[in-house]
Amino acid sequence: MRWALIGASTIARQYMVGAIRAGHGEISHVLSASAERAGTFAAAHHIPNFGSDLEEILADPDIDAVYISTTNEKHLSQAFAAVKAVKHVLCEKPLALTLEDAVAMVRAADEAGVVFATNHHLRCSGSHRAVRALIASGRIGRVLSLRLHHAVHLPPHLQGWRINAPDAGGGVIPDITVHDADVARFLLGEDPVAVVAQMASSGLGEGVEDSAMSVWTMPSGAMVMSHESFTHPFAGSGLEVHGTDGSIFARDVMTQNPIGLVDLVTASGREAIEFEKHDLYEEGVRRFHAAVAGEGEPAATGLDGVKSLAVALAVRDAAIRGVRVDVNYGG
Ligand code: NDP
Repeated sequence: MRWALIGASTIARQYMVGAIRAGHGEISHVLSASAERAGTFAAAHHIPNFGSDLEEILADPDIDAVYISTTNEKHLSQAFAAVKAVKHVLCEKPLALTLEDAVAMVRAADEAGVVFATNHHLRCSGSHRAVRALIASGRIGRVLSLRLHHAVHLPPHLQGWRINAPDAGGGVIPDITVHDADVARFLLGEDPVAVVAQMASSGLGEGVEDSAMSVWTMPSGAMVMSHESFTHPFAGSGLEVHGTDGSIFARDVMTQNPIGLVDLVTASGREAIEFEKHDLYEEGVRRFHAAVAGEGEPAATGLDGVKSLAVALAVRDAAIRGVRVDVNYGG
């Protein structure tokens, strides 16, 4: 499969170039708004073609798929252009800045008959799959609550648009709350119904929030508590799922890497749970390639991306207005 990278980004450089190649994908083009940056990226990663004209790149009939990892406000127009050119799309989260735009992207892909996936990597991790399997097996009984701890320290090289550019989709809610929404949906198999929330700027955010806490109600009655931040250097990440018959403690699992520990605590005591330690992004690409080959769905579909954005938008709205907000999934 031949790929074009739309965006000379950090995530492409650090994870996705390697993940695509590990899945025997060939990267033939990279696009940047700056031809010079595209050229530098292409040279560093041995990509034969580069440019700053999206239409020109998409006109290449040998390109099968695009990976979109530009800043968030660009995803919409780039995804539309790719779908129009009948390319499969793996798009970064958040899919767009508004729910209507995200729904429109996914609908356009469906109508064109191309695969559209969202790069929610956490559901590809062995740790999250192990937690999900424990819940599904009934080991903790009925789920009462899920606590998501995703307050991290945004490294200096990422402290650009994320902390000072609302128009580019900056802020911790579009950046991290979307991931947590996807994790809750993946683990519990249900969609948040309503949220209450608070947000703050606690040292990094300039015109956007850098911290958020929210509580979500689920159709089953389970409660979800979610904490995201850019300003917590020593907090560590993790999640806990508490049920009537047991609790699951997963430490350091809200991460890009296959690390962390999962423990199950029941009346019988504490048990360390083994899980697969494969690369999260390679697994996402593997599932994408399979979906293009007609084998199953991508790990996170376009609809998953729409729903995670819907929850994040509800969290921000609830925090701004100081009221409980029903999540609008767009019908
Ligand atoms: P970056 O800031 O590294 O890249 C985003 C865009 O910024 C690039 O496409 C590039 O534009 C531009 N850019 C990069 N370097 C420079 C520079 N030196 N000067 C000017 N512009 C520059 O963002 P990330 O890689 O962190 O994030 C990109 C997307 O990926 C976002 O949507 C984000 O939410 C998502 N993401 C997802 C992750 C996941 O695990 N799923 C993890 C991290 C990010 P151009 O292409 O025009 O050169």
